[in-house]
Amino acid sequence: MFLYLCCIEEKPPKRRQMPNQRRIRKIDAPPKIEGFKPVGIKMRQLDKVVLLYEEYESIRLIDYENMNQEEAAERMNISRPTFTRIYKKARQAIAKAMVEGKAIIIEGGTYTTENYWARCKRCSRITTAATPLSHCPHCHSSDLNNLHQPE
Ligand SMILES: [Zn+2]
Repeated sequence: MFLYLCCIEEKPPKRRQMPNQRRIRKIDAPPKIEGFKPVGIKMRQLDKVVLLYEEYESIRLIDYENMNQEEAAERMNISRPTFTRIYKKARQAIAKAMVEGKAIIIEGGTYTTENYWARCKRCSRITTAATPLSHCPHCHSSDLNNLHQPE
């Protein structure tokens, strides 16, 4: 949690850029999981690296969907240099976690989406839907943590 707060503070203030130059980073879908941890070490004993949602998305588009950076930037509705910066930061975070044996937590960021995202507190599954969710479609629990909603 402490590390997460540090990362937030290290981000440049939003007003450093002209508001009309800042494009919203679009993400298709949230990751299926909250993060990763090294084998054989308890979570509470691990240091954590935060991977922002848009950083996760950059990895997904380039390394999983095999897009080139131009296509990926267009998909996320951002400029190519902005995409390159996000992608580089994502790879650095993952490399740091692997080399230093840290957990990766996927959370936070500055992005938008066309769907509602919720994580079920009972079965931990993430669901996306065009309308607000009242129940988990997997286990029918109404104990949901709303991760994101369209703006
Ligand atoms: Zn559920």
